[in-house]
Amino acid sequence: MMMLMRTLLAGCALACCAAVMLGADEGTPSPRPYPLENCVVSNDKIDPQVAPVVFNGQEFRFCCRGCVKKFNRDPEKYAARLAASTSRAANASPPAPSGGGASGAK
Ligand SMILES: [Zn+2]
Repeated sequence: MMMLMRTLLAGCALACCAAVMLGADEGTPSPRPYPLENCVVSNDKIDPQVAPVVFNGQEFRFCCRGCVKKFNRDPEKYAARLAASTSRAANASPPAPSGGGASGAK
């Protein structure tokens, strides 16, 4: 009798935990802002009139609605493209030498 109650409780706890996790996943309140000035689909300048799309907690902005449609057809492809372009920018931008004492000009 006691054993049965304990298993029931454990099952309930698991179910509640899963429900909380689902709710947290669904209600992401603040997605990461779109880091680029250009549309990830066509590389044209973003139009602020076009409603942004949130995918995997990342906001995406577009130059036109046609690009939104293309994005929605294959969001993972464009998410990967965005990740690639942002990491490339991060790699390219810092001109600071790694592990040098040369930047002591200030
Ligand atoms: Zn476009």
